[in-house]
Amino acid sequence: MRVDRFDYLIVGAGLAGSVLAERLAQGSGKRVLICDRRPHLGGNAYDHYNDAGILVHKYGPHIFHTNSAAVFDYLSRFTAWRPYEHRVLASVDGQQVPIPINLDTINRLYGLTLTAFELEAFFARVAEKVDRIETSEHVVVSKVGRELYEKFFRGYTRKQWGLDPSELDASVTARVPTRTNRDDRYFTDIYQAMPLHGYTQMFERMLAHPNIKILLNTDYREIAELVPWREMIYTGPIDAYFDHAFGKLPYRSLEFRHETLPEPRVQAVATINYPNEQPYTRITEFKHLTGQDHARTSVVYEYPRAEGDPYYPVPRPENAALYARYHELAKAQPRVHFVGRLATYRYYNMDQVVAQALKLYGDLGEEVCHGRSIEHAAARGLGGDRVHRQPRG
Ligand SMILES: Cc1cc2nc3c(=O)[nH]c(=O)nc-3n(C[C@H](O)[C@H](O)[C@H](O)COP(=O)(O)OP(=O)(O)OC[C@H]3O[C@@H](n4cnc5c(N)ncnc54)[C@H](O)[C@@H]3O)c2cc1C
Repeated sequence: MRVDRFDYLIVGAGLAGSVLAERLAQGSGKRVLICDRRPHLGGNAYDHYNDAGILVHKYGPHIFHTNSAAVFDYLSRFTAWRPYEHRVLASVDGQQVPIPINLDTINRLYGLTLTAFELEAFFARVAEKVDRIETSEHVVVSKVGRELYEKFFRGYTRKQWGLDPSELDASVTARVPTRTNRDDRYFTDIYQAMPLHGYTQMFERMLAHPNIKILLNTDYREIAELVPWREMIYTGPIDAYFDHAFGKLPYRSLEFRHETLPEPRVQAVATINYPNEQPYTRITEFKHLTGQDHARTSVVYEYPRAEGDPYYPVPRPENAALYARYHELAKAQPRVHFVGRLATYRYYNMDQVVAQALKLYGDLGEEVCHGRSIEHAAARGLGGDRVHRQPRG
């Protein structure tokens, strides 16, 4: 049997790989083989109906939010949306209060009746003077003082990263979002929505093209020598591609514990953060995100782990330097393009990954029609070189 050559072998069927597969097939008529070693599409954004028939996110809650009209328009080709604004409460001192910290957080926590103006004065009074902001601890205490730092940030960061904020670079926290008004939305992006029928259905529609062949349960190494291809798009871990030649890039991992409960609702909002006593960082109830009507409900607990699937790149200067060495090797691979969160060792939100993938598509020069394309619009201001941020997704 003769196997025709694929124009592209795409490694990974998450957002980065799927956007490129769709663009190359639909936008440029290319023949694409996309493989993933997992048994499903969607990468970390994969969702599915569990045994109780409730739509859940296998790898933790994924909330779509972006300020990019181009990214939102592009994904809207494959899904309708359910408007959804994410809200989070933090369990502190026996109360559940809004996070990011806002006027209600402080008033409820301390039994006060401050106005927005008085809250500004409150923050100014409790903030610690720090001469040089070098660590995450400095970022927080210089904004909201030591007490709120201890209540909301220190324990959460220690759980999340396995490091004290005093050991983490200032860029991890970069900026502490606090509000002096009563806005309790977690994100403030222009577009905030969930795919109406879930992420997986969106991926299925992206990849439903006769030029796209999909191989699940397949590590690319099993087929790269067997299947003829012209160029590769690689969205897996960059250090694994080079057999960890310079050592492993450190990641923080998570263990997800999913649970289905007999009542229709158990939480006031989708996510409750547990900064202090508990071994988990947060619990999310999916029905808030999906709007599903069901007599029972499903939640997921997140336990940070040192070992396991790679989720959060650990933002320390020595790791950035290690990544830079792999990046140099990657640049010397003429037929392989590295894209996505694992191949560029960045914590990216979904919209940033879509923008990065659309930009790569533009750079590949495979576009059939010229002029101002969605790819160029999407690339503006998103997905390029961004500073590391504390993951909030
Ligand atoms: C807990 C958690 C919550 C998040 N919440 C949000 C959120 O609320 N909002 C948001 O915008 N973003 C969120 N994100 C970020 C989001 O998951 C990513 O932006 C997005 O999934 C990245 O897509 P990707 O294609 O780069 O990577 P991935 O989704 O990881 O896809 C890469 C794929 O490559 C495959 N692969 C790797 N190596 C190989 C190999 N050798 N052979 C074959 N296949 C391989 C993997 O199996 C994987 O499926 C969250 C991330 C985490 C960890």
